[in-house]
Amino acid sequence: MRVVSGIQPTGDLHLGNLLGAILRWVRMQDEAECLFFLADLHALTVDVDPAILRGNVREMAAALIASGIDPAKSTLFAQSAVPAHPELAWILQGTARMGWLNRMTQWKDKAGKNREGASVGLFTYPVLQAADVLVYKATHVPVGEDQKQHIELARDIAVKFNNDFDVELFVAPEPYIGGGTAARVMSLRDGASKMSKSDPSEASRIHLTDSDDVIAQKLRKAKTDPEPLPDDPELLAGRPEARNLVGIMAAVTGESPAAVLQRFSGQGFGAFKPALADATIALLAPLRERLIELRNDPAMLDGILAAGAEKAVELAAPTLHEAYRAVGLRS
Ligand code: ATP
Ligand code: MG
Repeated sequence: MRVVSGIQPTGDLHLGNLLGAILRWVRMQDEAECLFFLADLHALTVDVDPAILRGNVREMAAALIASGIDPAKSTLFAQSAVPAHPELAWILQGTARMGWLNRMTQWKDKAGKNREGASVGLFTYPVLQAADVLVYKATHVPVGEDQKQHIELARDIAVKFNNDFDVELFVAPEPYIGGGTAARVMSLRDGASKMSKSDPSEASRIHLTDSDDVIAQKLRKAKTDPEPLPDDPELLAGRPEARNLVGIMAAVTGESPAAVLQRFSGQGFGAFKPALADATIALLAPLRERLIELRNDPAMLDGILAAGAEKAVELAAPTLHEAYRAVGLRS
């Protein structure tokens, strides 16, 4: 079992990233060989400020370590330090089909109405993502629900490449989506869109770096409805914001939504929101404290990333070489 997954350094780590991906990565470290990377090449598919990107890579590395990623157990590195990722992505662009990429909902969401003005990289993003996991022959890719479609595309690319070139090179990776409510945490401002780093509204998400007061305030202001909470999760259908907050409570406390509702049924959000703030702060505050300490030691962070990159370069080399050979290049 080899686990590979990444996160873009496009902003501050938020509760959705943590519950949907990072805290699950942390748990997998003891069960499998794990590689985790900062997807800084993926970050280039949207407008970036070079000075901010450079700082974000280090900040995101610190946030992952603060959340429990242990560089002694897992290989942690920046994608741009391992040229095999974009090299393999180029080879795989010969395999991926326009029609496949056209169906990707992330492309449709992020390009919006302005497809002509979107970067080419935003369109081919999932091919680089396929290379990220195929180059290590990852068996499991722990991601949030929003990335399921991209991992399925990586599987299609792996199968087509193996067939086209009559090789058994690539392993079709399994998307590994968490159960329960953590797999898709929604925005605090709109129960129909997912919590995202790139959402322009700060109030839509809770950051790992938010103080206790800011967490409580964002949850107090979170969009809700005036109805009291029901006693059965099925009765939350049609109430996306209420459903999301109950889901967040379940995910941060480790309860089921049914158990959460047993505690709060009949009560309104005036009672629920402060309890949710307490539970969220209990989860995040210790991680935030560690992050603040780690920021003081950039040399240590750079050292961890350099050591991780060295290992990743070595692990990726044979697969990249075989891919070149399969298509008739190199010997
Ligand atoms: P961006 O808006 O820049 O795409 P993002 O918040 O979507 O940022 P990514 O770096 O794209 O974050 O994704 C990192 C990981 O977090 C992925 O595994 C993704 O599936 C997961 N993830 C992102 N948002 C959520 C969410 N709202 N709920 C659960 N998991 C999420
Ligand atoms: Mg994303």
